[in-house]
Amino acid sequence: MAVSRTRTATYARRRKRRMARVTHHLTDAQWVALQAEWTGCAYCGAKDRPLQRDCVLPISRGGRYTLDNVAPACGSCNASKCNDEVTGWLRRKRLDERAFLLRHREIGITLAARFADEAQGDAPDGVSDAPDDATDGAPDDATSVG
Ligand SMILES: [Zn+2]
Repeated sequence: MAVSRTRTATYARRRKRRMARVTHHLTDAQWVALQAEWTGCAYCGAKDRPLQRDCVLPISRGGRYTLDNVAPACGSCNASKCNDEVTGWLRRKRLDERAFLLRHREIGITLAARFADEAQGDAPDGVSDAPDDATDGAPDDATSVG
């Protein structure tokens, strides 16, 4: 009994830690800059609604809350897009897929350059994330006790 409960807790704790690491990748300053660049909902262009952080590539498809994967979306677009692949969703909604992708790329390049100097000790995505999955399976609990 006690064993299975511990295992569940361990799994939940690992998952929580992994999600926390992912979620906090986008800084507040980056989010403010993203909203300023898009000047409204990235998908439908609405400017009169509160904007939410939307992962262009959904978390469920391997996306992360990072500068190059987050776009401001109005509540209606965010809820509608949900876990859909972005281009297919844009097409179904009859939104301008090409314009979005171009703008998303431009803004990504602009902001990546702007924030490159400010990233202190924060390794680029490919570097910091690649080894994670490899080490995640290791029994890291022994080291985290206490
Ligand atoms: Zn929208």
